[in-house]
This record gives sequence, structure tokens and C-alpha cells, in this order.
Amino acid sequence: PVRVRFCPSPTGNPHVGLVRTALFNWAFARHHQGKLIFRIEDTDAARDSEESYQQLLDAMRWLGFDWDEGPEVGGPHAPYRQSERMDIYADVAKKLQDAGHAYDCYCTTPELDERRAAARAAGKPSGYDGHCRDLSAEQIAAYQAEGRTSIVRFRMPDAPITFTDLVRGELTFTPDNVPDFGIVRANGAPLYTLVNPVDDALMEITHVLRGEDLLSSTPRQIALYGALAEIGVGNGTTPAFGHLPYVMGEGNKKLSKRDPESSLNLYRERGFLPEGLLNYLSLLGWSLSADQDLFSMEEMVAAFDIADVNANPARFDLKKCEHINAEHLRMLDVKTFMSACAPWLKAPFAPWAPEAFDQAAFEAIAPYAQTRLQVLSDITANVDFLFLDQPVEDEASWQKAMKEGSDALLRTARAKLADADWSDPESLKAAVLAAGEEHGLKLGKAQAPVRVAVTGRTVGLPLFESLEVLGRERTLARVDAALA
Ligand code: GLU
Repeated sequence: PVRVRFCPSPTGNPHVGLVRTALFNWAFARHHQGKLIFRIEDTDAARDSEESYQQLLDAMRWLGFDWDEGPEVGGPHAPYRQSERMDIYADVAKKLQDAGHAYDCYCTTPELDERRAAARAAGKPSGYDGHCRDLSAEQIAAYQAEGRTSIVRFRMPDAPITFTDLVRGELTFTPDNVPDFGIVRANGAPLYTLVNPVDDALMEITHVLRGEDLLSSTPRQIALYGALAEIGVGNGTTPAFGHLPYVMGEGNKKLSKRDPESSLNLYRERGFLPEGLLNYLSLLGWSLSADQDLFSMEEMVAAFDIADVNANPARFDLKKCEHINAEHLRMLDVKTFMSACAPWLKAPFAPWAPEAFDQAAFEAIAPYAQTRLQVLSDITANVDFLFLDQPVEDEASWQKAMKEGSDALLRTARAKLADADWSDPESLKAAVLAAGEEHGLKLGKAQAPVRVAVTGRTVGLPLFESLEVLGRERTLARVDAALA
């Protein structure tokens, strides 16, 4: 049975790269009716935080992912926070050492640096040179007498390592490129290089799908798997690996965790729908078909095949992300759309007094908003004219729409609107159209000052429907105020 894992480290805020990794693992697990294991890699006390852990959990829930084992749901391999598994790693490290797969390394950083520089200068591989691989008991005693501390290093096999990446095909790493590496710090703290494959082995992970930035750890982990199998840790099988392509941001640079557009919180605050964001993120390396960008998570799960993932870097395109989100907004039924807007209809987003909110007016305007918003947070500015006593003052809009002759136009429009049929937006439109004609203005030009007088802005929802919802009294009063 398929068992995959999502195993972030709780450092900083969740970012889109992390979400894509979670998504591909989740879709793979669900497609194969396998299990998704959610594991927290929090062995770096200096960088990990409880706040970040809570954010990860919250993000996973918000995105709609479910997991079969992990925090909050438990499972046969609990605990799923590595900080609670330290005794396991100490035990495995000792067994690796006892079996000769790892050794104490007493080299100091200055010594390592010096030898690395010398190797570079001689045009030789500059990774760890195996200095402490086979120290005699006397050498070890001498180092200890000097007061040196030691780290634990894993002994890499001397043969090349070949594996078939599920995305990139067959890859080979030669020993020169994969020197012996540290697995336990001098203070006894186990490193990612150890704890990640140990847990993958113990949790019987069958497929490792993760970002390409981790490709260089794969030969090390495969070697470690061999050693773990020998000492009887895990079930003895090595998982298959698939590395998801890099995501490029602005200027064709790798999208970094620090780029503002990579922060998941930003998408939540702007009001992306989880399904819209996930649909877009799935396109970073995968597609449902050449001519269909828009799909549901059920469709993705049904179609997802890791062999279809493209090894080439994917480009992150915020405009397209917004566009896909907008399409998902259109697909909601209007009730769901209205409740999705709720957070942006109150403080701290809404500038109106809570009691000024009018549910009936919102229900009347919502269908127009639903066909136009890109993100839910746009709702606030699109409906504020209904709930504020006076429209917002937007200097730029005013400048743009109020030209010479605007007052005359507004006066005519006011008179015609006063006589219009307020139960029919067509009648309101006819009034403004007729006013424009009297002043030699096409509808677009005639409508602009009316819109700014009433809503405060040059852009917004369809004007005549907006006026109808606002009502005759308030509309005329606002035109009067603009003329005053
Ligand atoms: N905790 C690691 C990270 O967040 C996991 C890497 C992996 O998937 O192996 O980078």
C-alpha cells in the first residue's frame, strides 16, 4: 500500500512551495487509496517554534487536507513530532556506529576548512576526506585527551548510487560527490540527515515526493536506508523518490520563502479560496490536460500520476493564480459565496459601523460581485457605498471623473433619475443615457461622474444595479452632495 509523508519543519510561516509539496503528496495518496502521514520535523530547537507548528496545522486544515496519521489524529507510529522521538534517534545512531556504518569524527572546523581549500586548489573533490574513518584506539584516546569533541559521521559506501527518480528518470551519484556526512552533532543532537530517513523507514514510507532542492540528500538517504535495513530498523525497503521541479518567481529567480508572494498567509488574507489556490499550485509542475487549467481537487485526485510531473522549473504567475481563483469564485453557489465573503464584511476590514450592514442589500448586490471579484477581500471596497453614510473619498477617482461640464451633466442626470422607475435598472440606465445625450456624452462618459458621486470610485459593480440597491433617496442625496 502507498504511504507518503508531508514532513515540514515548523520554522517561519507556511509558504506556497510547502503547500505544493503537501498537495502532490496528498493527491498521490488519495489517488492510490494510500495513506498520508503528516510528520513534524522539529529537531532544530533554535529554529523551530510552537507558533509555526500551530500555523502549519491550521494551514493544512484551511486547505482542506486530511491526513491518516500525524498530529491530532495519531496513528501506529506515534509520536509524529520528531522532538518527541529523540530516544529513537539516539538508539539508531548507536546501532549504526556499533555496526560500523558510522564513526566519531574529531576534525575541527578550521581543519576541515583548510583541507577543503587545499583539495580545491589541487582540483580534487572538496567534500569530507574520510580523515576519521578508521582511527585507531590510540588516535581516538589522543584526540579525547586534547579535549576535542566529536560528531557522528555516516560512512558512505564506496560505490556509485543509482536510482530512478519518479520525475527525472535514472540518476547516478558517484562517491566523490557524496562524501561521508554528519548525522549527530557534538552535543548529541541528531540532524535532519539522520532523523528524516530513520522516520521514513520506521513509518514505512513507500514514496518520497519533495522539492528538487532536496535532491542532493537522496543518495545519502538511500545509502542510509541500506544500513538501516542491515541493522533491522524499518521494514528493509527503500522508498521511491520523486523530486518536484523548482518554482521560479520574478526575474526568473527561484521563488524564495522570503518573497512576499510565497507567503500562504497573504493568500488567506486576500481571500483566495483554498480550492482556487490549490488548483493553481497544482499547475506548478503538473496539468490535468493540455487544454484544461480549471478543475476541482476531486478531478486532480482522479487523474494524478506522478509520472506526469514535469521536471522543468515551473514559473509562478500571480496573475494566473488570481484568474484561476476568480473562476472558482464564479463556480460557487451564491449562498456559499456570500458566506465566504463574511470575514471581509466586518472589522477590521469593513469601514462601516456594524449596525449599518444591511443583509438584504448585500444579498441583492452579491450576485454582481460574484461575477467580478478576483479575490474575496475585494468585496469590501465593492459594497462599502451601501453601508457607509457617505461614499469613500477617493481623490484619484474624483479627479479622473469630474471634468469640466460634469456638474451640468450631474444636474441633468439627477433630474432624469428622480423621474425614473427605481424598480428597474434599465430605466436608471435610460435616464443617464438620455442625460449624456443632452451633453454630447456617450454612456461611459456620462456614467463616470454619477458613479463617483454615488460610490466614491471610478470602478465598481454594475452601476445601475448598484443604484437600484442603494435606492432613490440615498442616490439623489449623494448626487446633490457632489453638486454642493
Ligand atoms: N523537514 C524537511 C523540510 O522541510 C523535509 C524534507 C523532506 O521532504 O525530506 O525541508
